[in-house]
Amino acid sequence: DVQLAERVKALTPSTTLAITAKAKEMKAQGIDVIGLGAGEPDFNTPDHIIEAAYESLKDGQTKYTPAGGLAGLKEAIIGKFKEDQGITYKPNEIIVTTGAKHALYNLFQVILNEGDEVIIPTPYWVSYPEQVKLADGVPVYVEGKESNEFKITPEQLEEVITDKTKAVIINSPSNPTGMLYTADELKALGEVALRKNIWIVSDEIYEKLVYGVNKHVSIAELSPELKEQTIIINGVSKSHSMTGWRIGYAAGNAQVIKAMTDLASHSTSNPTSTAQYGAIAAYTGSQEPVEEMKKAFQERLNIIHEKLTSIPGVTCLKPQGAFYLFPNVTEAAKLTGHANVDDFVTALLEEANVAVVPGSGFGSPANIRLSYATSLELLEKATARIADYVGTNK
Ligand code: PLP
Repeated sequence: DVQLAERVKALTPSTTLAITAKAKEMKAQGIDVIGLGAGEPDFNTPDHIIEAAYESLKDGQTKYTPAGGLAGLKEAIIGKFKEDQGITYKPNEIIVTTGAKHALYNLFQVILNEGDEVIIPTPYWVSYPEQVKLADGVPVYVEGKESNEFKITPEQLEEVITDKTKAVIINSPSNPTGMLYTADELKALGEVALRKNIWIVSDEIYEKLVYGVNKHVSIAELSPELKEQTIIINGVSKSHSMTGWRIGYAAGNAQVIKAMTDLASHSTSNPTSTAQYGAIAAYTGSQEPVEEMKKAFQERLNIIHEKLTSIPGVTCLKPQGAFYLFPNVTEAAKLTGHANVDDFVTALLEEANVAVVPGSGFGSPANIRLSYATSLELLEKATARIADYVGTNK
């Protein structure tokens, strides 16, 4: 056996990828599997973005850019923050990264020492704990209770803070729950973070996908003190359907951003130049395509949420954002003779040919995650299959 580094041995493989791999294998065997595991919009990147990227290539913009990103893209991001959040950043408070995932990775690398704790509310996005561990940090979990829309309270936050705590992660709207924190809730959490002097890592990647009367609020826009204490993580992957382009960014304290930039300069160097030109167009061009995608997601959400919650043993809070449903299926699993939700998920794949992700991978074993970033037709077919499976096996 090859001797690998300890840090790699501690990594938990992604549950999302495991299910997707199994579904792909079944598809290759000719089985008609519907995959609801996707973490990316099913639309192509808007044309004007593709054209801007193409033009930049023809124009010879094919060389290294500054490690922290093109000045023009930083300006576009600063413009976005002014417009959407009403807050002002300087260029040295922004770093453009190879996707939001890489912004988070670099952030933990530069703020954590061995044994430092990062508070991660459950259910969580699968990469947070792994990235904290890769930086020799320790994930500390706090349960966002389903009865509180999967959100944590300031009391819960305060309870787990120790002298080792460096940061708390807030992801609103949330993957996997689709829930949003209100301004008042954020203020209350922020008050604790300020008093205890811990970083707030605010992952706002689903900012643009918020439905109905709900409104996205960034904790950084609530006061100058909170802005100082917060590192915002965002990117164009979900908002502009650009997952493959790998453009994300972090905004916040200039010293942290400089350290992240130094780290990038010795690892990835700049994010792909062409993708950066595309991202400039994403922020400076028409936002009409973003609105259209959002409309499609909202329509699907309304239809599928209703169908899903009419299945016996399935309950589901109505998500306010992102493109996931996170139903509680404990009862449905019991009804169909399964000891736990993981087994129910396996049965759904093998017998109903619908691939969903078990909540256990997000620290929430009573739930499953379904993505509605797929056509309405397939979504309706998938929910009908789940309903059939539960109906005939209960
Ligand atoms: N944060 C959350 C909550 C996500 O769901 C994702 C993508 O799945 C990311 C960050 C990473 O996005 P990117 O594609 O920009 O790396």
